[in-house]
Amino acid sequence: MLSKKLHEALNAQINAEMWSAYLYLSMSLDAEVKGYKGIANWFYVQFREEQDHARIFMNYLLSRDAAVSLQPIETVRTSWASPLEMFRDTLEHEQKVTAMIGNLASIAAEEKDFATSNMLVWFIDEQVEEEASTREKIGACEAVEGNKFGLYMLDKELAARTYTQASPLGSSAE
Ligand code: MG
Repeated sequence: MLSKKLHEALNAQINAEMWSAYLYLSMSLDAEVKGYKGIANWFYVQFREEQDHARIFMNYLLSRDAAVSLQPIETVRTSWASPLEMFRDTLEHEQKVTAMIGNLASIAAEEKDFATSNMLVWFIDEQVEEEASTREKIGACEAVEGNKFGLYMLDKELAARTYTQASPLGSSAE
């Protein structure tokens, strides 16, 4: 049986993943209104991935016979000065998520809840990828700073990103 502490921490993580989804949806809408369709697409895919993350935690709680308790989602920022600022904000946010996942892993280890430790491995790897991919986008934005054509090409490149369901949910591409 899941401990109360772990149950509460996993429930809080569901809310954090939903907040992440909301943040990236907000970035997607802000990019779209400013004419960056590709960047809007990239963040929309990110929005869908975050919802997958929340679902993985929900499925896990249910599989451990623990109730999911959905909490209100805090408001998010709605405007960014540039795509560079958006990606910098994304990296800062993902670093916080990495710390939260690390905290969950610490609790699971302390409590010798091996099933939870095992479930969290996917998220630990995912965070390494999230941070690396965001750093790459920051580098690309910095490289084209002040260059409208460069930003236009980067926007086109990010338009190609497609959503793939997270592997713990079955990994079916659309
Ligand atoms: Mg996430």
